[in-house]
Amino acid sequence: MNEKALVTKDLNAKHTKILEGLLKLPENRECADCRNKAPRWASVNLGAFICMQCSGIHRSLGVHISKVRSTTLDTWLPEQVAFMQCMGNKKSNDYWEAELPVDYDRSMIERFIRAK
Ligand SMILES: [Zn+2]
Repeated sequence: MNEKALVTKDLNAKHTKILEGLLKLPENRECADCRNKAPRWASVNLGAFICMQCSGIHRSLGVHISKVRSTTLDTWLPEQVAFMQCMGNKKSNDYWEAELPVDYDRSMIERFIRAK
């Protein structure tokens, strides 16, 4: 069954509002990875808001590492929105920097270098 089919138009509008509110928080105004301003994408399993460029890199890592959603174009499930609410960029960075496997760290470092 497609879970997204359960997300009504009203619920979707509510999610968009919540996500817009989260993106206004100081910690979420910059991409979690490269600090670009005004990210409009998110990794729903890492709980981080990211820019379009980094969303492409996250996608290339595969959905088992990062599941990317647009905050404006995609349909979100209630638990995904709730997770973004309790994570956000600060907690997400603190958490994943400590927990990520070494090869992911390396790709993050490469990304930082490329972003400069
Ligand atoms: Zn970025």
